[in-house]
Amino acid sequence: MSEKTSFWTRLTGGLARTRDRIGACLSNMASGQIDENTLDELEEILILSDIGVTTSAKLIERLKARRGEAAEVEGLKNILRQEMQSMLEAPKPLLWHFEARPEVVMVIGVNGVGKTTTIAKLAFWLKGQGKNVLLAAGDTFRAVASEQLVKWGERLNCPVVWQKSGADPSGVAFAALDQALEESFDVMLLDTAGRLHTKVNLMEELKKIHRVLGKRLAGAPHKVLLVLDASTGQNALSQGRMFNQATPVDGLILTKLDGSAKGGVVLSLCAELKLPVCFIGQGEGMEDLAVFNASEFARAIV
Ligand code: GDP
Ligand code: MG
Repeated sequence: MSEKTSFWTRLTGGLARTRDRIGACLSNMASGQIDENTLDELEEILILSDIGVTTSAKLIERLKARRGEAAEVEGLKNILRQEMQSMLEAPKPLLWHFEARPEVVMVIGVNGVGKTTTIAKLAFWLKGQGKNVLLAAGDTFRAVASEQLVKWGERLNCPVVWQKSGADPSGVAFAALDQALEESFDVMLLDTAGRLHTKVNLMEELKKIHRVLGKRLAGAPHKVLLVLDASTGQNALSQGRMFNQATPVDGLILTKLDGSAKGGVVLSLCAELKLPVCFIGQGEGMEDLAVFNASEFARAIV
């Protein structure tokens, strides 16, 4: 199986439940009659597919406006797919110029969403493009968090800057940036803690790290990427809102889109947070990361 095929198989597999629901609703529609009831029914299905109330209403509104174009279900499907794609493409995409040296990337998100694993995947992706990557273990809350990143560093052959548990994460960030500057790394990927029960502290800590990085190198961090677990559905949206208020987020990474993902949430994330989805995670291995593609994603849903 080629890499492309397996990626597509996993994407469509993960979104199977969502696609089946929408597909079944559209097929049940009475002999191509697209009336008000049909659209109401579709709206319900979209909401049940974790697309969210507001975003589902927006999609239905657009379908209503374009209803004249679709005499039958197949046409309606095409319009729905197009509208979803344009919704997914709407936020300005996040570009990687690699102009800053190092390009400092801060990875944030709640515990367990897949931050550390995603950093390993990003490092693998960047190394594949010939970039020199330095990893920084900014999650100093638990010793295992740093150990996990150190292990990934060994497998990826990437140096890791870490300090003992309980150390100030801003200190780790500062020390890592020092090393990245001195040793001319192309990219520095900074892991952070995500314990949610101390929400206020966490947000203050993230702001402090942000500030400290900017003091050492103007413009740093160049990217703040928020990791969200797609399998948590609308919870991911509330986490997105919360983090985006505390620290300006530049892009999203959706993990766990393999398995029983509630992938519809990706639409509400793009539409409501107005943030681009940059990557999607589809497994626990370092190669299980794909650059997000709006057209493929829309096709996998409808
Ligand atoms: P963190 O607490 O945010 O750093 O999360 P971790 O990176 O430690 O990941 C938590 C768990 O989720 C680990 O068991 C990972 O292997 C798993 N995980 C991360 N990303 C994915 C993904 O895309 N798909 C699947 N199935 N598991 C993932
Ligand atoms: Mg972690």
